[in-house]
This record gives sequence, structure tokens and C-alpha cells, in this order.
Amino acid sequence: MARIVQKFGGSSVANAERIFRVAKIITDAYAKGNEMCVVLSAQGDTTDDLIAKAEEINPNASKREMDMLLACGEQMSIALMAMAIEKLGYPVVSLCGWQVGMNTSSTHSFARIKKVACERVKEELDKKRIVLVAGFQGVDKYGDVTTLGRGGSDTTAVAMAIALQADLCQIFTDVDGVYTCDPRVVPEAKKLPEITYNEMLELASLGAQVLNNRSVELAKSYGVQLEVLSSFSGNPGTIVKEVVKNVEKTYIAGVAQDKKIARIALAAMPDVPGVAYKVFSLLAKEKINVDMILQSYGHDECKDIVFTVADKDAARCEEVLNANRDSLKFDHIDINTDVAKVSVVGAGMQGNPGVAAKMFEALYAAHINIHMISTSEIKLSVLIDKEDSERAMRAVHAQFFQ
Ligand code: ASP
Ligand code: MG
Repeated sequence: MARIVQKFGGSSVANAERIFRVAKIITDAYAKGNEMCVVLSAQGDTTDDLIAKAEEINPNASKREMDMLLACGEQMSIALMAMAIEKLGYPVVSLCGWQVGMNTSSTHSFARIKKVACERVKEELDKKRIVLVAGFQGVDKYGDVTTLGRGGSDTTAVAMAIALQADLCQIFTDVDGVYTCDPRVVPEAKKLPEITYNEMLELASLGAQVLNNRSVELAKSYGVQLEVLSSFSGNPGTIVKEVVKNVEKTYIAGVAQDKKIARIALAAMPDVPGVAYKVFSLLAKEKINVDMILQSYGHDECKDIVFTVADKDAARCEEVLNANRDSLKFDHIDINTDVAKVSVVGAGMQGNPGVAAKMFEALYAAHINIHMISTSEIKLSVLIDKEDSERAMRAVHAQFFQ
């Protein structure tokens, strides 16, 4: 007998047929004698639909009321799933965030989990019930409903696994696991049997969209091994853990793209101390995240600073910089949203020179021009034209994996 936490994403519970398919997965594991705690997301596009409804009423609704609304999606899922499991003849109970003691900060729409007081869940497990928990939602110290940010149900699942000291935490989704690349772009992409937390974090933040970033951070800090698998195929998934065996000696875990970025160039700024400080402290004050940064080799007592931000921040970035033009003294500013970032990620890159050359060779052979380059211990990224992004992914993936 094991204590298992499972999580099913929105597409896995999108309609009645899928709910029954998932109910079967849950009850099969229960019938084998396991204790089952199951976290669910809102069905299909429910969360987006709820946001659209709110916008019809009041585009400036308070975050508190948004949380109150968005939490409904997950509550629907657990109630419907409980009904399906009842119908299959198994004991089950559904519980909201406040009922499982999912205590969070009061930062509505992006609350942080503080403590999971899961007595109720333990009692229900002792009564041999299958426990269904609404993902994504919690309760703050005032008793108000909070949500954990988009994709937050993964984090709920990891937090429950930690609190319950579960033997296994399985995240079911609509893909078979974590792939070396997005299989929709690169059909030759292979499923990884294992991946490290750090690689997963890089891939998630690069837009691989399999697991929510915060859930991986939480799993990493408590050493919770995660399994990502499909609720449709029944195939074994990908295990996310601290150290993996690199059987194939590829050094690279995957290739990812991010198209939702913008490049900002500040041309001909004075080449004196403090310029970078001025620019980036202004942006920090606005809470604008900066990713790649490049400063040109100075000429004629001038230099250029080029950097990338999320495309949604580009307009505000331009506004802030223009408003401070007098003190920043740049000649002109150029904003380009037709760019994409393509990255290779791999813990094995450390101490293995040549990864960069291999990537650049592939891009050169595909006639793709590189605008910017950035590196970290386990990641190498290039900024290229957005229209080249898919082609770059295929070329780079083929270089490392074929
Ligand atoms: N339903 C929420 C969302 O769509 C949370 C989740 O699915 O994990 O973001
Ligand atoms: Mg998700």
C-alpha cells in the first residue's frame, strides 16, 4: 500500500467522458489498496472563460473578487469527479482549499503557500475515502479565498504530497511526459525517461509548458520526486528528480523556444559609469523582468544597451525609458517584438565545451542569424527572428539528437 497524490490538468477532465476516464485511473489505483489524494484543475478553458465573464462586468475588478470567481472552476471539477467516482461505487469526498487547510499569503491572484494543515485529508484517508482536492486555491489569514497563479494546481499537488508525506506524486496531463522538444514542432522529439529539477525549471521558464515552475521549485526544495504522465495513453512518463543517469551521454535534455518576448535597444548612450544601473533600476522599480542583456563595445564615447523583456511588458518599458530620456541620454530606442528565444538546456553542459559551437553550427547551416546570445551553467540561448523560430528548433534539435 502506498500513499499517492495524483493531479489531473484541465484537459484531462474537460468533459464527462474524460472525467470517467480519470475516475477509472483513480479508482484502479485505489482498488489496489493505495491511499489516494487527487488534485484537480478547472475543466478545459473554464478559467479563461471565467476571466472573460469578469471582463464583461468590470475589467478592473479587485483581485480578491477575481480569486473568488476563478476558484469556482476547480470546485466544479472536484464535485463532478466525486459524482463520477460515487457512480463507480467507491467512497469519495471532495474538498476545497480552505477545507484542506491550504493556508496562503494574502497576495490575491498570486498567493504563496504558507502551511498545509491537512488533518481533514488525513481523517478522510483513514476512513478509506478517496480525497479530491481543488487545485489552485487556498485561504489566507482573513479566511478569504486566494489563488496561486495560473497553472497553480501543479503546486497544490506538490504541496499536498509534502504535507501528506506521499510515496508518489503523479502529474497527469495531455502529453506523455517531458520531451526533448515540443513534439508539435519537432515530430522526432523523444520522451525523456528522467530529467533533473534544474533542467525542468529552465525548460519550464523557457516555455516548455509541462509543469508550473513554482511546483518544480517546491518539489526540488523538499526532494519530492514527480512523475509527469498522460491521462490518455497509459504509457510511463518522465520522472523529475535531483540527479539523473545520462545513459545516452547527450549532455542536452531539451530544446525550447519562447516567442513571447521583445527586444529593446537603447542606442548611443554615454559610455560612462552608472548607465546600466540607471536603466535597470528604473525597470526593476516597475517590476519589469529583464532576461538577456548585451552591452556593445563602446565607440566614439558611446555604447548601446540591448535587452529582452516579456512582450507584454514592452510598451510599459518604452514608456518608462522615454520618460527618463533626459537622464539616460540615449539617442534613440528601438522595440522589436518579432523575435524569439531558442535555448538548449542540459545539466551535462557543465564541463563539456563544444555545446555552443554545435548549436551555432546548426543555426549557421540553416542560415539563421543570431541577434543575441546568453548562457548560464546549464542553458544556452540565442535570440533570433520570430519567423525562424521553428526552423531553428528543428535544426538545433537534429544537431544534438540525431
Ligand atoms: N485553472 C487554473 C489555470 O487555468 C489553475 C491550473 O489549471 O492549474 O491556470
Ligand atoms: Mg497546467
